[in-house]
Amino acid sequence: MQALSTEMRLQGKILSLVPTMGFLHEGHLSLMHRAKAASDILITSIFVNPTQFGPNEDFGAYPRNLERDSALCQSAGVDILFTPEASDLYGDGYQTYISLESLPNHLCGLSRPGHFRGVATVVAKLFHITQPHIAVFGQKDYQQVLIIRRMVQDLDMNVDIIAGPTIREPDGLAKSSRNAYLTDAQRPAARSLHQSLLMSQKMVDSGVVDVKLIVKAACLLIQSFDDTVIDYVSICHSETLEPLETIDGPALMALAVRVGKTRLIDNTILKPDLTE
Ligand code: AMP
Repeated sequence: MQALSTEMRLQGKILSLVPTMGFLHEGHLSLMHRAKAASDILITSIFVNPTQFGPNEDFGAYPRNLERDSALCQSAGVDILFTPEASDLYGDGYQTYISLESLPNHLCGLSRPGHFRGVATVVAKLFHITQPHIAVFGQKDYQQVLIIRRMVQDLDMNVDIIAGPTIREPDGLAKSSRNAYLTDAQRPAARSLHQSLLMSQKMVDSGVVDVKLIVKAACLLIQSFDDTVIDYVSICHSETLEPLETIDGPALMALAVRVGKTRLIDNTILKPDLTE
């Protein structure tokens, strides 16, 4: 893969990369379309990265279907599908990792220790192997995008990071490979993440600026559904992820909720009306 990318770069081609863990859905495909439009060669990687899963997480159970994914990639115009094995990326004696100082100490990083170390490491490795000019990630994993942008800047990586919007099911649920775990009976509970984000923006529209009030209302809405356990509901600074007390400008609202055994995340930027 590295030799191929070097060759294509020498030919003057612009390369883009969309890294994924497979079990592709319209969210992934939208990133591919974005990448395709900005490059000559679209590379997509499918790699369920063991180093970003905790010991009690769903690495083994994570849904996989390479045949279906390959067909979807083909229809999305992917030029090269890169599907390494774990032993290709983490050989015997592997011991090098990338960890960031403070961005992982918030939101998902708190409940998934080591997760972003695994993410940053694998993304850096994929960048070195595929050598893209452009890489496209989803805003659905907001903290991940921030961390990757920070890593690219801090380590002088020559890759443009583009973030694509969250693609949703018709009922508002953010598309996710993990939605495959949900039963029909759990769908209303799963929908409550997006509903609580919409309700929070309505509260902000009506003049509520107290973060505690908004978070409390969102938690109540989510907890009104059976089978939900809130991991976090947070309103924080959109760049530093530091918690906020009052909304006086655009603020990130991010949440993670377990619906049964399925951990779901979602986020939005809450925007106060500052015209007065
Ligand atoms: P994953 O396969 O879940 O690791 O995701 C691969 C990429 O797709 C990441 O950049 C995600 O942020 C992005 N992605 C996942 N779900 C969505 C979605 N619903 N809309 C847009 N992008 C998404």
